[in-house]
Amino acid sequence: MTLTDPLTHKATLYTLQSGVLPVYMSSLYCHSCNRRYYHNYYVHKQSSLRTYYGGVPNVIQGAQYFFIESALSGLFANGMVFGWDRLSASNWARIYNCALSEIDPHIANNKLAFASVYEGWNLELRNVDVTNGFFLYSLLLEKSERGGILLLPHDEPSQRDRLKPALAERKKAMEGIGQEHWAHACDLCFVIFEDADGNIMKLQSAHCDGDTIGHRCSS
Ligand SMILES: [Zn+2]
Ligand SMILES: [Zn+2]
Repeated sequence: MTLTDPLTHKATLYTLQSGVLPVYMSSLYCHSCNRRYYHNYYVHKQSSLRTYYGGVPNVIQGAQYFFIESALSGLFANGMVFGWDRLSASNWARIYNCALSEIDPHIANNKLAFASVYEGWNLELRNVDVTNGFFLYSLLLEKSERGGILLLPHDEPSQRDRLKPALAERKKAMEGIGQEHWAHACDLCFVIFEDADGNIMKLQSAHCDGDTIGHRCSS
């Protein structure tokens, strides 16, 4: 049985090295297993569930008309970690559109004259795209690390609503002892020694920054 009943629509792919690309997205249906196959997941005819294929794909569909390379989402994620609020989603959208989208300046500066280039395609990265891409990329990364498969509801009014339960589940899993380095102890940050009276003592480092005192961990 071959895949059939193609559904195709215009979409935009944001890449790290080739800039922004107008693309067509197609999904195909299988009458044998009654599933429609999309770029990153399939949906069974009688379910309202997106079952992702597993692993972290090179290109992630962050919303219906929006695709993003994992490498670009990785750059955004690192910017948010190391640049804090200065490299927020809205600032990343600005940086991408100004420096990485690679639309020829003579086209970008004369949108009216080159209207046909833009017709039907949104070629400007928006704040919400960065956020959608970042969250979905992070969820896929997390599932892949734990050897799981991401499941998301299919019929939701927005990507925000679709991601909500999976993000809440991930947050719950991080609470308490869920963090990767929760039980970390090494010779650099955790020392056990005997004091002059023969008592076993523990010396553990903590660091403080502008927000908190704690992080009893060297990694
Ligand atoms: Zn099939
Ligand atoms: Zn340590």
